[in-house]
Amino acid sequence: MTATATRVLVLNSGSSSVKYQLLDMADGRRLAVGLVERIGEENSRLAHTPLATGGGKRETEGAIADHETALKAVAAELSADGLGLDSPQLAAIGHRVVHGGLRFTEPTVIDAAVLKEIERLVPVAPLHNPANITGIRTAQALRPDLPQVAVFDTAFHSTMPEYAARYAIDVETADAHRVRRYGFHGTSHAYVSRRTAALLGKDPSEVNVIVLHLGNGASASAVAGGRCVDTSMGLTPLEGLVMGTRSGDIDPAVTFHLKRVAGMSADEIDELLNKKSGLLGLCGDNDMREIRRRIDEGDERAALAFDIYIHRLKKYIGAYYAVLGRVDAVVFTAGVGENAAPVREAAVAGLEELGLAVDAGLNAVRSDEPRLISPEYARVAVAVVPTDEELEIARQTYALVSA
Ligand code: AMP
Repeated sequence: MTATATRVLVLNSGSSSVKYQLLDMADGRRLAVGLVERIGEENSRLAHTPLATGGGKRETEGAIADHETALKAVAAELSADGLGLDSPQLAAIGHRVVHGGLRFTEPTVIDAAVLKEIERLVPVAPLHNPANITGIRTAQALRPDLPQVAVFDTAFHSTMPEYAARYAIDVETADAHRVRRYGFHGTSHAYVSRRTAALLGKDPSEVNVIVLHLGNGASASAVAGGRCVDTSMGLTPLEGLVMGTRSGDIDPAVTFHLKRVAGMSADEIDELLNKKSGLLGLCGDNDMREIRRRIDEGDERAALAFDIYIHRLKKYIGAYYAVLGRVDAVVFTAGVGENAAPVREAAVAGLEELGLAVDAGLNAVRSDEPRLISPEYARVAVAVVPTDEELEIARQTYALVSA
């Protein structure tokens, strides 16, 4: 790495998409952002915005067969603006990797052994790790000399005490199959909890925070003095809160029941609970905007779905309050958390005895900035902090390669 190399390309490779951002860590500025969608289909789409040049979004449609072709197309778009992968200013590529298992608790420079270990984790993250691996291999082929860093979604939760991470099942069976609670969205929980401490004018070590990451996927975490002590997702992202399409917590016997009584296969139940449940399963919509619109029109199914969503959220706020003992802030983030004022209002309604309240005026303000929405008298701060997983991945990547 040269002294002037301060740029980090962040890659988030999904099964049929690649999201990317190029950031300059000298000042945290975003130089380019983009997305390749529907990889492997006829109508793939690449949307690229070169923020550094002030240029508008460029969109191209047409078949992109695989991740390699996709990344090459991204590289060409970046080159067109003088931001190519061959730039000496590029310090590293940071990859979002969903599952790091027990082994990876820190961002890690990827070598052959690391990649092998990420592959070994595929059975516990069959939907995510294979795509992440493909992204890494492709980027390595394009720039074999450049450090590639894996930043794991599970890492921030690795500080959970054993009593929070273990399921109460037979220990031998659990250990033989690596069955335990890992947690996800860790990069977001890490960023948002740290940013919340800054908003309160405190060091992360001084504050206890409940983070509510409410996007299409959703998770809560209890963060004590900067360390995660509990989180709502488990072995997989299915556990915990009601999500856009996932059920969240459910009696595991429901699965045996569906198998025995409805004759459903494991794959069908997996699909039901991950893709056809949550808000979508309850009311036919998984977008909170649409659900609120339907509620305003008097739609009872949408109203019940909303109430179930809020009830679960409240239970986690209460649970993590008890886990932490003292709470300094409850913070909302991600698509729903940042934008849906009615969700924030309903989630803390009636919790005044716990020191929690939302100021209606502050809650109604729309902003991209971290902000407090609790009234001055409230004992516990309620905050909205926009998440920035790409910035956090870039920050962790750069810290590692520039150390
Ligand atoms: P994410 O996974 O963080 O990108 O969040 C996506 C979700 O955020 C969408 O499915 C919507 O439910 C929700 N969302 C986005 N914008 C709004 C908004 N203005 N009001 C309510 N919900 C929103």
